[in-house]
Amino acid sequence: MNPQLVENARRTLEAERARIRLELSEEVEHPRVAHGAQTAAATEVSESQRGQQLREREEQHLGLIEGALRRIETGNFGLCQTCGKPIAPERLEALPWANDCVACHSKRRR
Ligand SMILES: [Zn+2]
Repeated sequence: MNPQLVENARRTLEAERARIRLELSEEVEHPRVAHGAQTAAATEVSESQRGQQLREREEQHLGLIEGALRRIETGNFGLCQTCGKPIAPERLEALPWANDCVACHSKRRR
């Protein structure tokens, strides 16, 4: 594994992790709740549902990022978690949090 690629990936992952953590914490501290209790009730529900879905996606993404950072620490970065083969460097450059190779990824999507 090219150390420069790992270093780039680590930087991207750490920046992305910080961004998501900030986003998730802002969502908690400043919920987008409209003013006016009764009239706002309906929109509030759909707003928070949308927020919930978004949050789940972000949390899932955060999980992938943390997994990749752990693999950097343990020296397993860039290995497919499904078949154990190295993930193509181009894929890691584009998606440093990828935890499977293109072959396994497309198999899983099918
Ligand atoms: Zn694989």
